[in-house]
Amino acid sequence: MEKIISLAKRRGFIYSGSEIYGGLAGTWDYGPLGVALKNNIRDLWWKRFVEDREDMYGVDAAILMNQKVWQATGHASGFSDPLVECSGCKKRFRADQLDDRAKCPECGGKLGEERQFNMMFTTHVGATQDESTISYLRPETAQGMFVNYKNIIDSFHPKLPFGMAQIGKAFRNEIAPRDFTFRAREFEQMEIEYFIAPKDWAETFEHFRNEMHAFIKDVGIGADNVHELEVPEADRAFYSKRTIDIEYDFPFGRKELYGLAYRTDYDLSRHAEHSKIKLDYLDEAAKERFVPHCIEPSFGLDRTVLAALCDAYSEDEMNGEKRELMQLDPKIAPVKAAVFPLLKNKPELVGRAREIYRDLKKEIPNIMWDDNGNIGKRYRRQDEIGTPYCVTVDFDTLEDGTVTVRDRDSGKQERVATEKLIRYINK
Ligand code: ATP
Repeated sequence: MEKIISLAKRRGFIYSGSEIYGGLAGTWDYGPLGVALKNNIRDLWWKRFVEDREDMYGVDAAILMNQKVWQATGHASGFSDPLVECSGCKKRFRADQLDDRAKCPECGGKLGEERQFNMMFTTHVGATQDESTISYLRPETAQGMFVNYKNIIDSFHPKLPFGMAQIGKAFRNEIAPRDFTFRAREFEQMEIEYFIAPKDWAETFEHFRNEMHAFIKDVGIGADNVHELEVPEADRAFYSKRTIDIEYDFPFGRKELYGLAYRTDYDLSRHAEHSKIKLDYLDEAAKERFVPHCIEPSFGLDRTVLAALCDAYSEDEMNGEKRELMQLDPKIAPVKAAVFPLLKNKPELVGRAREIYRDLKKEIPNIMWDDNGNIGKRYRRQDEIGTPYCVTVDFDTLEDGTVTVRDRDSGKQERVATEKLIRYINK
């Protein structure tokens, strides 16, 4: 894990938040390569779950919501984790993550009584600060969809089954943020609320279970490291009839990557009761009104980025030299190809390489230019960030119009005609 964290920082994927001031625990800043990787994953998700379907409605709801939303769902009173404090070093821990609930894992001191700690960040909206102006940074994107259920029904008149999808930031004041970006206090979720007639729940659950695995495959994360955990009733939210956690073998252990839950009609019913607005569905054929039930596939975007980095990281030897490489799927790789002139001090090579670079960049986003150091060093640098192809412009290019294209994983080199380069890389 240390090697991955160090590479991520050194090469501009992910930095600590507010680093020059000593950081802010549980916050992370994405650098240029991290943003590109995250955007590529986000786009794949949106394409699969929204654009390629006919039954999904995308929304982008406000992060700040009326406090009544969180009273209705029970988050205001109950979105908490069990907290214990050491009487010696005063450090705080999440009680359910400790092997020994009596002894401090840091200093061996005595741990105090367990108490519930609400994880929502509180803020105030407007110039006065009292109970009535309280708002929260949303701890999940899900509620932004439930409160827009009626808007979607009124604007689009969808027939059941249909879903709503949203990607956005969520905030949790985690007691113990840890394991790089895995447990952060500010993170991004990609969530779906899929509305169904109650009788269809098991079939829909199965559909999304398969789709979640298909998405993981699409991102290029190896199935061998992905597992399912059937969450036992005692550990499920009381309204959930079934929950599966999809887990990934991170270097720090097997941990939750995504969750899939059958939330029954809990959320819509609670909002209907608290808002006094009808949130039901009219089945015109059966002349029957009912509150739809809901299947919720929930994905962490930052956890996907982290799993993709962990899955892609490897070390091997090439031409007698050790190398670190990121075997990212080309679909999500932040840089698709790098273009080099063989020699930096030959204007004719640099000029032709620049032209090829510009032409590629027009057609394919995220093409990089590199003329620093020797070719071997440039290859190593691109391997580290997962660039699938390196294109070298040499003296033969000036003669016969071909370039050398070198494959990241095998190191194999091929001569490709310049006019075929865009098609070659796109393929
Ligand atoms: P955990 O048990 O790890 O705290 P959870 O069961 O509380 O997670 P959910 O409420 O199901 O998580 O949230 C849905 C998804 O959001 C998770 O599967 C995960 O991908 C992501 N997620 C939740 N909490 C965090 C966090 N603190 N940092 C990064 N991602 C998170």
